[in-house]
Amino acid sequence: MTMNLLPSERLAEFRECLAAGARLYGPVEVDGIVLFEELGGRPPAIRPGNPANSLKSFLCPQTEAVFDFEGGYTDVALRVPAAPTAQAIFGVRPCDAVALERVSRVLLAEPFADESYRQRREMTTILTMACREAGPHCFCRSVGVSPADGRGSDVVLYPADGHYLLEAVTARGLSVLQSAGAFLDPARDEAARATCQSTPVPLIGAVEREDLAARLEAVALHPHWDELARRCLGCGACTFLCPTCYCFALFDTVRGARGRRSRGWDSCQFKDYSLMAGGHDPLPTKASRIRRRFLHKLSRFPAVQGEYACVGCGRCGGTCPVGLHLAGVLSELEEVLR
Ligand code: SF4
Ligand code: SF4
Repeated sequence: MTMNLLPSERLAEFRECLAAGARLYGPVEVDGIVLFEELGGRPPAIRPGNPANSLKSFLCPQTEAVFDFEGGYTDVALRVPAAPTAQAIFGVRPCDAVALERVSRVLLAEPFADESYRQRREMTTILTMACREAGPHCFCRSVGVSPADGRGSDVVLYPADGHYLLEAVTARGLSVLQSAGAFLDPARDEAARATCQSTPVPLIGAVEREDLAARLEAVALHPHWDELARRCLGCGACTFLCPTCYCFALFDTVRGARGRRSRGWDSCQFKDYSLMAGGHDPLPTKASRIRRRFLHKLSRFPAVQGEYACVGCGRCGGTCPVGLHLAGVLSELEEVLR
């Protein structure tokens, strides 16, 4: 794939070029917290690790209208929202881009592809910043992701001293580099990529085990899940911030003959998440819901998709108010199994 060098002092012009054809988002610091937001000319806050929110805010928004309706039982008029416009997301970390690729496997699977997600995905360009330093909660290498991973990205920027090596990963990425050609030098710097490929990231033995899925299934009924449930607040923050969680719920708001069908993020950590119309709930306890989250990410999703539904972004490690993050819980379970 095409590679170019971008001098560091021309990075702002490169971003302006991106913003000319799309709404440009990136990490910015807001009241001391780094979040993905529309950049609006602000310089991105590129720090080790990830912003608090993930890319799913831009591809599966927290809430969105599915359609508006008006009328009675026999003559209902529907109005669907306008099609999404082009957006580019700059400063994405490789784990987040890989997460997008994992989510797309589910939401773009035919014959039930999610039309809203598909339209946004087709209008989104992902510009990834490879990592030269891991964040405090990162463990990507333990789940098969690299600090220089290009999966899910259109362009990867490898930072070096005084410049960036830009690599186009997709045809869309190639067209981005062609449109920014005035700022780019057609030279290569393989060392920039190699440096990111060897960025040290802590390895977490409990996550890395080859037999992880089998070991988790073997402890599915262990009483330690009840101990974890005693600590869990059921707040759902781990799932809302996780870039590989994609569950949503549909709900209607009706006023007279008019209304709106919307959808919004849902969480498998919520009571009634799996409640069925007949009253049966296969996940009736907090312990069963926590267990389901771990088994889904590390056993059942890999059984179908061949990869974990975790990219080691570390958000649950930095967010869970009672410390029940993925790597920590696995380490606890390893202790229990000794
Ligand atoms: S489970 Fe935790 S570390 Fe893994 S992708 Fe989700 S938020 Fe990131
Ligand atoms: S963030 Fe922590 S406390 Fe909240 S639901 Fe997730 S595991 Fe439970």
